[in-house]
Amino acid sequence: MNLAAPKQILNYIDGQFCDPENGRFMDNVNPATGEVYSQTPDSDADDVQLAVDAAKKAFPAWSTSTPDYRFKILNRIAELIDANLDALALAESNDNGKPLWLSKRVDIPRASDNFRFFATGLMHYASESHSMQGKAINYTLRNPIGVVGCISPWNLPLYLFTWKIAPALAAGNCVVAKPSEVTPMTGYLLCEIAREAGLPDGVLNIVHGGGPHCGASIVSHPEIKAISFTGSTRAGKDIAAVAAPMFKKLSLELGGKNPNIIFADCNWEKMLKTTVQSSFANQGQICLCGSRILVEASIYEQFKTAFVAEVKKLTVGDPLAETSKQGAVVSKTHYEKVLGCIELAKEEGGTVLLGGNALKPEGRCANGYFIEPTIIEGLGPDCRTNMEEIFGPVVSLQSFTTEAEALQLANASDYGLAATIWTENVSRAHRMAAQVHSGIIWVNCWLLRDLRTPFGGFKNSGVGREGGWEALRFFTEPKNVCIEL
Ligand code: NAD
Repeated sequence: MNLAAPKQILNYIDGQFCDPENGRFMDNVNPATGEVYSQTPDSDADDVQLAVDAAKKAFPAWSTSTPDYRFKILNRIAELIDANLDALALAESNDNGKPLWLSKRVDIPRASDNFRFFATGLMHYASESHSMQGKAINYTLRNPIGVVGCISPWNLPLYLFTWKIAPALAAGNCVVAKPSEVTPMTGYLLCEIAREAGLPDGVLNIVHGGGPHCGASIVSHPEIKAISFTGSTRAGKDIAAVAAPMFKKLSLELGGKNPNIIFADCNWEKMLKTTVQSSFANQGQICLCGSRILVEASIYEQFKTAFVAEVKKLTVGDPLAETSKQGAVVSKTHYEKVLGCIELAKEEGGTVLLGGNALKPEGRCANGYFIEPTIIEGLGPDCRTNMEEIFGPVVSLQSFTTEAEALQLANASDYGLAATIWTENVSRAHRMAAQVHSGIIWVNCWLLRDLRTPFGGFKNSGVGREGGWEALRFFTEPKNVCIEL
């Protein structure tokens, strides 16, 4: 097969590509150029209803198919993602503004990993049994739920979309899914791959559109029994309010304001190099980026000088150029939001050590949405800059003198997604890891992912966990059977 991004994206329902029922389409803009490069459906409840009807029809056969059959199809999808790496990576970069090399080396390969990983997982995910000392035997069946909804954001489009779809399908569910309306292209291309791989009609249905009409219709549909959502804390609250009274299963992966805690006894070279990445990778638009950098006072000045010097070397520009370390932020709206956050930081009394401005590269990207990597200092833990998620190439520096103070600053956030701890003192690393309120702790590294581990956040960063058995548990309903012997 030869994948290519079309000028018009379509919904994929019951194995067919189709226009939205209302006939409405939205512009899909390449944020690196500011140009419209495709049209995407502005679907609503009618399209979601068709998708649910198709998924319900497909469920009896898919949910009772053998693990071996599902294993083969999911692996075939993974193979086809790999075979179409170039086309998918280009589509993702054009949609999102991220460097092409990043899509090609990280994001798209992770999407095929998701299918491969959960295909293997389903082969090993068996029912549990417990003997009651010869009196009885208990076993727990894990049945697919039925029709499930998967809704994902724009920052890692295909990677996060498939992180939900793959376990949902592996567990035997049928899916109604919606990618972000800002980055719909690879979600569309995934349908072509699923069809080619032989996924039966109706098992995966993708409906494109905005949050308030299309996404909300998925969440409120009475026949969609579980919602797996990744996105903002704001939308997560709205979704929880609708889903809770309907007793839907909910997995919410939400925002972050992650601390990157640097002790004086760290491995300096590794810390510095990784901190540049954890601050600005994907233009700072990864929920795991360390946007609050906490540095031990004794090395604060040394760190500041070295960090500013390293970040100055980052090349920002055309995402298609191999030399660009940073591309465009995802949209005009987001660009204006991030620039507004930088202005707010100044009003709050922050000092901009580096960056702080929009950037206009020459050539085809002259009208794109680029922002300089920005480093701010001089703000306390309670100001909005250090409390609210910016989700862009902006970090703030704070200093601490004791381990207790580092902990206090790290935990002074309503979010609790991820934290990084830099120290060569093993005892301190364990003490901090145990006490920082985050679902993910990296010690002397960042973004190392093992798909078997639970992934998710504390506090306003979400509810539930994805990854490994957690995802297969989420997408199944346990049923205990007790037999007296
Ligand atoms: P968003 O919440 O605006 O949108 C996410 C998705 O939800 C989109 O598909 C959108 O159309 C849909 N949506 C919005 N409102 C909805 C509603 N009321 N009902 C149903 N669907 C709705 O988020 P975004 O701007 O696309 O993504 C950025 C956010 O995602 C950041 O806050 C970031 O931290 C978060 N994020 C979290 C993780 C994680 O794993 N915790 C990973 C990536 C991104």
